Amino acid sequence: MNRQRELVDILNKWAYEYYVLDDPSVPDREYDRLYDELRELERESGEVYPDSPTRRVGGEPVKGFERHTHIARLYSLDKAVSSDELSAFFTRVYKVDPQTQFTVEYKYDGLTVCLTYENGVFVRAATRGNGVEGEDVTAQALTVRSFPLKISYTGTLEVRGEAIMRLSVLEKYNAAHPGEELKNARNAAAGAIRNLDPAETAKRNVEILFYDVNYMSEAPVKTQVEAMEFLKREGFKTYPFFRVCKSAEEVQEAIDEIEAERKKIDVLTDGAVVKANGERVRAAMGYTDKFPRWAIAYKFEAEEAESTVKNVLWQVGRTGKLTPLAEIEPVDLAGATVRRATLNNFGDLTRKDVKVGSRVLVRRSNEVIPEILAAVEHTEGSVPVQKPTTCPFCGAPVEEVGANLFCTNEACPPRVVQKLTHYCSKNAADVEGMSEATLTLLYERRGVRNFSDLYTLTAQSFEGLEGFKEKKISNLLSAIEASKQIPLDRFLYAIGIGQIGRVAARDLAEFGSVEAVANLSYEQLIALEDVGEATANSILSYFADEKNQAELARLFSLGVKPFVKEKRGEGAFAGEVVVLTGSLQSMSRPEAQKKIEELGGTAATSVTSKTTLVVAGEKAGSKLEKAQKAGVRIIGEEEFLLLLGEGE
Ligand SMILES: [Zn+2]
Repeated sequence: MNRQRELVDILNKWAYEYYVLDDPSVPDREYDRLYDELRELERESGEVYPDSPTRRVGGEPVKGFERHTHIARLYSLDKAVSSDELSAFFTRVYKVDPQTQFTVEYKYDGLTVCLTYENGVFVRAATRGNGVEGEDVTAQALTVRSFPLKISYTGTLEVRGEAIMRLSVLEKYNAAHPGEELKNARNAAAGAIRNLDPAETAKRNVEILFYDVNYMSEAPVKTQVEAMEFLKREGFKTYPFFRVCKSAEEVQEAIDEIEAERKKIDVLTDGAVVKANGERVRAAMGYTDKFPRWAIAYKFEAEEAESTVKNVLWQVGRTGKLTPLAEIEPVDLAGATVRRATLNNFGDLTRKDVKVGSRVLVRRSNEVIPEILAAVEHTEGSVPVQKPTTCPFCGAPVEEVGANLFCTNEACPPRVVQKLTHYCSKNAADVEGMSEATLTLLYERRGVRNFSDLYTLTAQSFEGLEGFKEKKISNLLSAIEASKQIPLDRFLYAIGIGQIGRVAARDLAEFGSVEAVANLSYEQLIALEDVGEATANSILSYFADEKNQAELARLFSLGVKPFVKEKRGEGAFAGEVVVLTGSLQSMSRPEAQKKIEELGGTAATSVTSKTTLVVAGEKAGSKLEKAQKAGVRIIGEEEFLLLLGEGE
């Protein structure tokens, strides 16, 4: 075999281990070394194999998406939102075949994509669109690593998957992109795949989880069990949860399990998918014009609903950004009454065509501010929202940058309050109990303007303010006092240097002191991994500003003392490679992983030869067995909490 072919095969095998199995067998640099060798050979030979990993870069931005007609229609699923509707589904299926088995899977909340293969080679990716016709997103999908470019099946094939952004990936992304946070994982994944520039798609670390075969020209699979086996065999990434159930009761149990687990897993989901597995049942039940009759999506809570926009208000953030906030007719959504919903910016409002009086679709997902997804219809009385030319709070001129509007006045009252709120927030100075409402009062009634003003407050400052009793005042004062001892990275984040999020702040904190950071040159800054041109300039201009210098000096003279946290590798999990399995009662998996990393450990997703510790929660599955066989140390949740210093 020639070397170029050999390299492609090895690299694809390693990528499969890394991206699909989460179980790499070689270090990244070994991969990079062979990758470079392959690129060199491709340059020399002028030939790139269709399954070469170098194709995964995606290429140049495209001007627009071409329409693509799917070979077979991509059906959507009928929905059940109550147990009555679910039992009606069972009744229909059992009429056709009382012996039938069912499969139960998670229903992911992302963007559905369809991949086409011909002669064993990946040729195209398209969005679902209306089911008949979607958009060609091949260049974008190529940057996603969770599917093979070459497979052993040689007929024409369409497979179906959901493009998703893991919640932990979203969190990391948002921490690294202050001011440009993505609202939720679903929009983030959809926005990544439908981005005209494949390089942007690549940055978002999207995954595709595959769950169905849509079309096969030869020897088509006949059941969902066969489809999943086929997908796994050919190297597509699938989700580990897949149940085959013998009865309606077992289906209900699997659904209950999903409902309990879904808030803890790292993927946004909104329900469970139930499919009758028998070939005969499927043939006999067939399809409506929209859905297969033999499958149903069980949705847990109504998380989207329609309402009417009553008014649109503006909010000013700490950067001066104006965000539209819609007041809507109260609507019940996922167990809460929603009265307000946000739009990202003025551009978003225009694009979604939201007017006062319009019917709109509102979405509330896990612990996120409700958001307007789209206008559904306009009424006769719908009135377009005027673009403000001056700040609605201070009257200063408004500046338009891209899709955003900014108040140009640094002293704009809500902006100052937001800056103070940011300073006091959990990931910044963490002044416990200091709410936005309290800071608004202190701003209005006590002239608090700068962070340093907080450290001059005394019990008298709160006297005469409504709702402040002795206990509350002393708690607030001691929280302010406690915030003087602050980790350097959190301090650098708290003071609100433009473009500096938590990630960049951690990089800067490596320099050891505020003074050291203030003295960094442009060249030193730009050399940092998470610092670009704009960020570097923003840091330089922050420290060059005399007002900022004076404020920093005042903070220090009032006793604020940023310190450098102990280095990683000294915590309770120092040197440990920790795998979590099953579910924990006390925290979600991403939280647990974060804590392990904070204490010097490495959180891994699967048990390998490198694993040193397994934390087994409830319903721990195959990972636990694997760990037992490998003789890895296993602890339960109680012991885990003790190690975290949170146990009883
Ligand atoms: Zn203003």
